[in-house]
Amino acid sequence: MVETGADCKFAPLSLESIYMDLFEKIGSLAKRRGFIYPGSEIYGGLTGTWDYGPLGSELKRNIKNEFWKTMVQEREDVVGLDAAIIMNPKVWEASGHLESFSDPLVECKKCHHRFRSDQLEGDKCPDCGGELTSPKQFNLMVETYLGVIEGEKQKTYLRGEITQGVHVNFKNVLSSTRVKIPFGVAQIGKAFRNEITPGGLTFRSREFEQMELQYYVKPDMKESMKVFEEWKERRMNWYLSLGMKKGNLRFKEHGKDELAHYAKAAFDIEFKAGDEWKEMEGIHHRGDWDVRRHQEYSGVDMAYFDEEAKEKYLPFIIETSGGVDRATLFFLMNGYEEEEVNGETRTVLRLHPKLAPYKAAVFPLLANKPKLVELAEKIAGDLRKDMMIAWDARGNIGKRYRAQDEAGTPFCVTVDFDSLEKGDVTVRDRDTMKQERVSISELKGRLADRLNG
Ligand code: ATP
Repeated sequence: MVETGADCKFAPLSLESIYMDLFEKIGSLAKRRGFIYPGSEIYGGLTGTWDYGPLGSELKRNIKNEFWKTMVQEREDVVGLDAAIIMNPKVWEASGHLESFSDPLVECKKCHHRFRSDQLEGDKCPDCGGELTSPKQFNLMVETYLGVIEGEKQKTYLRGEITQGVHVNFKNVLSSTRVKIPFGVAQIGKAFRNEITPGGLTFRSREFEQMELQYYVKPDMKESMKVFEEWKERRMNWYLSLGMKKGNLRFKEHGKDELAHYAKAAFDIEFKAGDEWKEMEGIHHRGDWDVRRHQEYSGVDMAYFDEEAKEKYLPFIIETSGGVDRATLFFLMNGYEEEEVNGETRTVLRLHPKLAPYKAAVFPLLANKPKLVELAEKIAGDLRKDMMIAWDARGNIGKRYRAQDEAGTPFCVTVDFDSLEKGDVTVRDRDTMKQERVSISELKGRLADRLNG
């Protein structure tokens, strides 16, 4: 039976009031302005799936582009990869997903809500107080079948994480590029999990996207921990450099009892969503688990030969694994502000200009004056060659400003009658609401400076 999403369109993660409030506000803004819609909404939705609208797809793409620029383009020691979503099922035996990716679940006999038994505090249903079933194993891997002939179809899985696509290509990357340990392979892509309790908008979805780095180092505990610390700092700084407020981020160390059995160390970068801290990215020391297991299960020698040291070894792996959807959601929350302006509430999305879906909006002051519209269209067309530009000619200027504030657009450019005579326009700043006149010939350069500065 297909589960529909009527019950979870904007399902909160917990009943904490501030948290819910923020999720509701972001959910409403996301839908209203075209950031995020419930998946398959006209059919009642599909639990744990979401669609990104015109603004959301831009924001998400900008986050991924910034990740790629910092993690691949700007680094000599990192290369990129784009592996298949469907892999040989043996991959998932080797990675341990088929045995360990199943959480013990309990179900309430009264309201039929299901919970992870390891996360329950009492022995009654937290929603209705009903009696719970005994825990059952439930596999989080999403199954699918390849082949066209009924009865001969092969069962496979949609990948539960993007990590393994990198490790199975370890030897290919070594033989086809000039990388030497230490080096990393970055990847961005979709992953799928039959999450038991999807919710919190896109926070926990069944289809989501990850952005990761697998960094291979010598199997030396002291040296590898140094690299681990460096990546921890770099990843935290990446979020800060894109406008995350310091007070909204923290590291959380995994206790010994929380560590995956193969992991040597793990920290999460958490975001403060209302009054709850939530995982956004994990930095993990995976030891040599992945390469060792793939060597064992595939029979292929995965060892690296270190030319300088003349040694052969299986490398240690330092992983940084972030959720693109969680980052998108948390950048929205981080930027969301309401403030009083002239007795009215202004909602503004203070997104970093590099992430903002539209870099500027262009308006003709009056939509019924062809000369203004013509000049504004010319300016917008010219700017569009270099950046995403919004266009709005409806309603009054104040309303257009408010709409762009909610969309996170850093600048609004208005073409008025003076523009026709003096060749300049009004540029209004989203954050300060200050306006200045800028000559049309300098406009593109000035905007580019402000966006990059
Ligand atoms: P959680 O404990 O919240 O389930 P996890 O520890 O299982 O997360 P990882 O397997 O380490 O997560 O995946 C790395 C990142 O992928 C997470 O930090 C998160 O940003 C993202 N992620 C994982 N599961 C989901 C999901 N169901 N929906 C959206 N993003 C997810």
